[in-house]
Amino acid sequence: MGNRIYMDNNATTPCDPRVLEEMLPYFTDKFGNAASRSHTFGWEAEDAVDKARERIADSLGVLPKEIVFTSGATESDNLAIKGIFEAYASKGKHIVTVKTEHKAVLDTCKALQKKGAEITFLQVDSEGLIDLDQLRDSITDTTILVAVMWANNETGVIQPMPEIAAICEEKGVLLFSDATQAVGKLDVKPKETGVHLLAFSGHKLYGPKGVGGLYVSSAHPRVKPAAQIHGGGHERGMRSGTLNVPGIVGLGAAINIATKEMQREAERLSRMRNRLETALLEIEESRVNGSTAHRLPHVTNLSFRCVDGEKLMATFNQKLAVSSGSACTSASLDPSHVLTAIGLSDEMAHASIRFSLGRFNVEEDVDLAIQLVRNGVDNLRKISPVWEMWKEGLLNDL
Ligand SMILES: *Cc1c(COP(=O)(O)O)cnc(C)c1O
Repeated sequence: MGNRIYMDNNATTPCDPRVLEEMLPYFTDKFGNAASRSHTFGWEAEDAVDKARERIADSLGVLPKEIVFTSGATESDNLAIKGIFEAYASKGKHIVTVKTEHKAVLDTCKALQKKGAEITFLQVDSEGLIDLDQLRDSITDTTILVAVMWANNETGVIQPMPEIAAICEEKGVLLFSDATQAVGKLDVKPKETGVHLLAFSGHKLYGPKGVGGLYVSSAHPRVKPAAQIHGGGHERGMRSGTLNVPGIVGLGAAINIATKEMQREAERLSRMRNRLETALLEIEESRVNGSTAHRLPHVTNLSFRCVDGEKLMATFNQKLAVSSGSACTSASLDPSHVLTAIGLSDEMAHASIRFSLGRFNVEEDVDLAIQLVRNGVDNLRKISPVWEMWKEGLLNDL
């Protein structure tokens, strides 16, 4: 990557060269349609898809037929939520989700509101965690789905999925989890945990973009979301369309590698993350956003008071790629809905930076990141009248 350091792995990851190598033959020599049953071109492709499906099922501890391939987690989220809403309409129209979900979940729920769905958006506490009693109280006789993400993309905060699943089990309600940031990073076992539908994506775990999947429980309970894309009846009728064979091969290879290397990689990344975090917390008036006890090993989200995250990133001169807590929706820079939900002021949300480390980061990257952030914060505060006033105690909490 030249002299650019990439610490934005929650946005996307590079495709691992080992993954790409497994994919390449399926663009050229082995280009068959996995649905072609009458010749070896089709069989080769189908075998490759079967193998990928098995690898994914193995990693998740589910059956191969319970994996539905999609174009990514956005589509998986849409299929799960819209598909359950449609299929279970006779039971009710109430869905429970959380304010800190990804937009692919929140906007899907909001789209369903226009079609008569009742949505409860649960609050989170200052750590970013939901309140289990609130969850239990929110479930009614008409609730058809609870949707809670496994791990948050902005803060890395991990929700208590086993406890959430126990409540859904007790109430007899289906549980969907957007596990896009968790699969390949944590030991995600939906069936064992009691999660009935689970979304994941290739490009968040060192696989290719444009491919993902949805786990759908086939028994105890048998779940059948209504198809949102109709056509040839692929993927047990849940998602039609010629399968993206190279992408699926890549997704299978990526999950396989991530699962094998998970523990060692988690230890390596958490050591680096902790070193980065500890050093940056030495900066005056800085804080970590979200729980540090229940968090992905490679993520830290920090705010530096009176420092605009976007301006801080500009001081890095393209040497360090991270994200700020200003969600760039259309033309406006809104503060992140995740950070405001955990109680940050707009100012402190705009003052945040998310560092998400990954497979290709090395210790020297951490050293340079520390140096760049320290200098950037120092320089911006030196010329900040607001910081001056804060230091003199002329401002209340920002
Ligand atoms: C990236 C992400 C998505 C969207 O995934 P795509 O595969 O890019 O559509 C959904 N949910 C979460 C939590 C994500 O991090």
